[in-house]
Amino acid sequence: MNSLRSLVWVMLLGAITMGLLVAGSAQSVTPPAAGLLIRGGDIVDGTGAPARRADVRTSGDAIVEIGADLQPKEGERVIDATGKVVAPGFIDIHTHVDRGIEEHLEAEDQVRQGITTVVPGQCGGSLLPVSEFFGTLDRRHPAINVMTMVGHGTVRELVMGGDYKRPATAGEIELMKGLVDRAMQDGAVGLSSGLEYDPGFFAKPEELVALASVVAKYGGFYASHVRNETDTVFDAWREAIDVGRKAHVPVEISHFKLASKPVWGRAAEAVKLLEDAKREGIQVMADWYPYQYWASSIYVLLNTRNFDSRKEWEVGLDVVGGPQNVLVTRYLPDKSLNGKTIAQIAEMQGKDAVTTIMDMIRAAGPGIGIMCTSMDESDMARFFVHPQILIGSDGSLGGSHPRSAGAFPRVLARYVREKKLLPLPEAIAKMTSRTAAQVGLPDRGVVAVGKKADLVVFDPATVADRSTPLEPGLAPVGLPYVIVNGQVVLDDGKMTDARPGRAIRRQDWTPYPAR
Ligand SMILES: [Zn+2]
Repeated sequence: MNSLRSLVWVMLLGAITMGLLVAGSAQSVTPPAAGLLIRGGDIVDGTGAPARRADVRTSGDAIVEIGADLQPKEGERVIDATGKVVAPGFIDIHTHVDRGIEEHLEAEDQVRQGITTVVPGQCGGSLLPVSEFFGTLDRRHPAINVMTMVGHGTVRELVMGGDYKRPATAGEIELMKGLVDRAMQDGAVGLSSGLEYDPGFFAKPEELVALASVVAKYGGFYASHVRNETDTVFDAWREAIDVGRKAHVPVEISHFKLASKPVWGRAAEAVKLLEDAKREGIQVMADWYPYQYWASSIYVLLNTRNFDSRKEWEVGLDVVGGPQNVLVTRYLPDKSLNGKTIAQIAEMQGKDAVTTIMDMIRAAGPGIGIMCTSMDESDMARFFVHPQILIGSDGSLGGSHPRSAGAFPRVLARYVREKKLLPLPEAIAKMTSRTAAQVGLPDRGVVAVGKKADLVVFDPATVADRSTPLEPGLAPVGLPYVIVNGQVVLDDGKMTDARPGRAIRRQDWTPYPAR
C-alpha cells in the first residue's frame, strides 16, 4: 500500500469509527409541519388500485385521515386538488443526485417531477463512508428524502487503488466485504455495480457474489449497471441474475435497455429472462427510463479509442442505426451545428458521415457531446408495461440528458396518456409502492393512513415533460404540488424554502420472504 492510499485508508477507518459512535442516534430534526387538507382530488394510492375521490389529511409528517368531504380544521392549510390526481411522491430507484445534493439541497429538477425519495449510489459509485454522507444530509436538510446504495467500484478503488486491472485477491475481497458491511450498518440499502466502467469492469463474478452476500445478511439488494449494454447484453443480464441466485439477494437491473441494432426486437426474450428468474425464486426487477436516446461523448461510439480508423467509425455508426441517430448537442467550434444530426451535418458539408466526424474531432477533440437514439420504441413499450419493471430516471442534478428534469412526467404524458400503454394506477405503482418494496421502504409509496406524507398532486390531462436534448433543464408542467414529510416543497408550481427531506437509513424490513 503506498502512502497516499494508506492515508485514505486511515481517514476512512477514522470516519468509520466516528460513524459507529453516532450510528443510530443520528435522526434529522424537522420542524413539525402544520396540517394539510388536500381536497377534491382523485387518489391513485400507489398500490395499483383504481382512482377514487377522497380528501387527504396530514399532520406532522404523516397521513392521518382519508375520507369523503373532510372539513378543514382550524390552522389547517387547504390545498384544492379538484380535477387532479393525488398520488404518493415518486421514488426514483436509479439516480445520480449524490453528485451535488449536498450543495443543491433544493433538488429542483427532482421536486418538479414529483420525486420525493431518491436512491443514489448507483452504477458502482457512491459516497463513503455512508455515515458521513447521511450525517451531512442530517445537518443540512435536503428538500427530498435520500437513501443510498454502496458502490462496488468505490469500494474496489479504496482497496485496490490504481492497481485494479486484475481480479482481486482473497485478502482484498475480505477488505471490500468489510467496507460493504460497514456501509450496510450505516444504512445503505444495497450494493450497486458498474461493470462497464473502471474499476468494476475487472471484477470477476465471484467478487460480486462475495460482496452481494454481505448485503444479503441485511435484507439489501444488488443493483447492476451490467457489463455490456449493447451486443452481449443478454449475457450481462444473466451475470447479474446469477449474482442474485448465488448470493440470495433481490436483483435490480439498472436502466434496462436494448441499445444496439444487433439486439433490437428482442424485448420478449429480455422480459422472459426476468420472468424465468422470478419463477425460480429470485426477486429480479429492472428499472427503465422513458427515452430512446442516451447522452455521452462521440468517442463512445468506438469500442477502441482509435479515432483515425474509418472502419471503426463505420461499425460504431452502424450499431446505433446510422448517422441520422447521432444528434450533436455540444460542439464548441461551431455552435450552429448543435441540434443537428451527423447525417444532416454531412449533407450540409457535402461529405460522408465518417469524414464529417473525423473533421469535427480534429477541430474540437473527441469530447463532442452527442445524444444518440439507439433504442426501438416497441422494445421500450414492452419493457414499460412489464410488472417487473420500475421507473427510474438515471438522472442527476442539472444533468445534460433531459431525463434529469423530465423522466417521471414523461412517463405520465407519453406512455400513459398519449400511447395508453398502461392505466394510470398501474404506472404510478411502478413509481411508488413497488419501488418501495424493492428498496425496503415500508412507510412510503402508498397513500394510506399512517404512512409518511410524501405526496404529489398533478393534472392527468396536462402533466408533461418539456426538457429536450438541447434544453435538458426545462421544467415539467401540470404538476403543481409536491409534499415531503408533510411539508409543501412545490407550492402551486413554485419552489418553497422548505427542506423537510431526510437521510433514510436501511430499515429492518423486507417485503420478500427469506429464501
Ligand atoms: Zn449506469
